[in-house]
Amino acid sequence: MHPVEKSTNSTLFKRAQQTIPGGVNSPVRAFKSVGGAPYFVTEASGPFVFDVEGNRYIDYVQSYGAGICGHAHPKIVEAVFQATKRGTSYGAPTLNEVLLAEEICARVQGVEMVRLTNSGTEAVMSAVRLARGVTGRSTIVKFAGCYHGHSDSLLVSGGSGIAQQGLAGSEGVPDGAVADTIVVPYNTIPELDERVAVVCVEPVAANMGLVAPLPGFLEGLRAACNKVGALLLFDEVITGFRLCKGGAAQWYKVQPDIWCFGKVVGGGLPVGAFGASKDIMTQLAPLGGVYQAGTLSGNPLATAAGLATLNMLDQYAYQQLEHTALSLQQGLEQAFSAAGITAMVPRVGPLLGIFFTNSTPTDFNEVREAADNGMYPRFFHGMLSRGVALAPGPYEILFPSLAHTTSEIAATVTAASIAALEITRQS
Ligand SMILES: *Cc1c(COP(=O)(O)O)cnc(C)c1O
Repeated sequence: MHPVEKSTNSTLFKRAQQTIPGGVNSPVRAFKSVGGAPYFVTEASGPFVFDVEGNRYIDYVQSYGAGICGHAHPKIVEAVFQATKRGTSYGAPTLNEVLLAEEICARVQGVEMVRLTNSGTEAVMSAVRLARGVTGRSTIVKFAGCYHGHSDSLLVSGGSGIAQQGLAGSEGVPDGAVADTIVVPYNTIPELDERVAVVCVEPVAANMGLVAPLPGFLEGLRAACNKVGALLLFDEVITGFRLCKGGAAQWYKVQPDIWCFGKVVGGGLPVGAFGASKDIMTQLAPLGGVYQAGTLSGNPLATAAGLATLNMLDQYAYQQLEHTALSLQQGLEQAFSAAGITAMVPRVGPLLGIFFTNSTPTDFNEVREAADNGMYPRFFHGMLSRGVALAPGPYEILFPSLAHTTSEIAATVTAASIAALEITRQS
């Protein structure tokens, strides 16, 4: 018998830990901040994931937002399958790369050119290099609790996994690598000076739970950057192609100088992208002096998946997504209040977060107070045991997809009502 067939989640987790650090290839997946063994996925379909024990979960992780059409969408599967038959990587340009670049530029006003990468991390890392090259300046400003991938200079005070490990930053990052990084609180407009090359921000912070920009914050950043000639970078790896067609820049009517994308734009395959005006983007090699490259960049499977995904994202898709998120928000709020549990369920369009606190956090300090009160792990396991998979940590958000129908939302709300009552009874 094949050994995997007899595996349970916990035996497989033990086995994984023998050859993979922590048993996982990205720290959050290890369940460290909620406890227990992660479910090992065997397959996924639409709103569901299935684990090695045969359990089915309504999935709100959706690959941390890479999935927007639901798992294994037939159109995406078919596009990738057809692309696979034509070869998986060439090291030469292809039509689909051009089509994807055109699609991104058409959707996001202000993006005139785009370069594809293999991950969001790479996109932001390269975009920061470009910003420094264009301005001839060194300083980067970032906001506490915003996550911009795991490159050295941006890892300080990151949200997401790094917050869950209780780390301010990472070991192995030399002081020199972060000497030019300034960290400031989210939703506060920093004092900038002429040393600042770029201000990096998640226009909606979605790696410290969900923290919306307060009115005037993004506008204030735009003005502050203009004043000193710094570039404004929107990290739209989560918000891009998810909030609406044009992402957060369109949603909030504030234009950055540089955009970073990832997750949705790859349709579940490894893709990132960064884009800007022609003036800025032509500073990249081979036209300009800022180097950036990638063996697998513009990969044919990934561009096929990305194109198939964007093709499905019309205005009706965004309306549906937002409607789904609204029902989920209202259902969860009712479930918590019926059980007498203090919780906030902030929502921006289709993005949804949960904080077990009595007022919605606006920066990382407030988030940490709310996230570390021990409520999230209890709710998480209450939901998981009832077939609903939330992200295994309080710093992540929920990603309802186009595949989540009213029946999954109703089932989720029922599970939440029971899980919430169970918490009340135990305390
Ligand atoms: C996920 C994420 C990244 C990093 O993308 P990877 O593909 O994981 O490297 C960067 N920025 C934001 C806002 C993200 O959510």
